[in-house]
Amino acid sequence: MSGGAVHMKSDGPYEIVRVGETYEVRDTRNDQLEYRSRTLDQALSALGVRAKAERKRQTVMVRPCIRCRRDFESEGAHHRMCATCRLNARDIYHGAV
Ligand SMILES: [Zn+2]
Repeated sequence: MSGGAVHMKSDGPYEIVRVGETYEVRDTRNDQLEYRSRTLDQALSALGVRAKAERKRQTVMVRPCIRCRRDFESEGAHHRMCATCRLNARDIYHGAV
């Protein structure tokens, strides 16, 4: 068996490398092994899942909270308060009832 690694495919920061008889999905940013399979199909789907999750993560925006003005990771236009302020806002609401 030869130990040569063959690059097969990459998607975002992830790549598939064939090592001997196995396919490895690696994160190229830290060269970490994410997934290992004996079939290319499984490695391809593992690559797809991770690349998609990574793209989703990159769409998260950092916005200032409307209440305390601290930057936080917003999941969308509807999401304008940081987690701490949302918790406090809920407490105030319950207290007012
Ligand atoms: Zn806040």
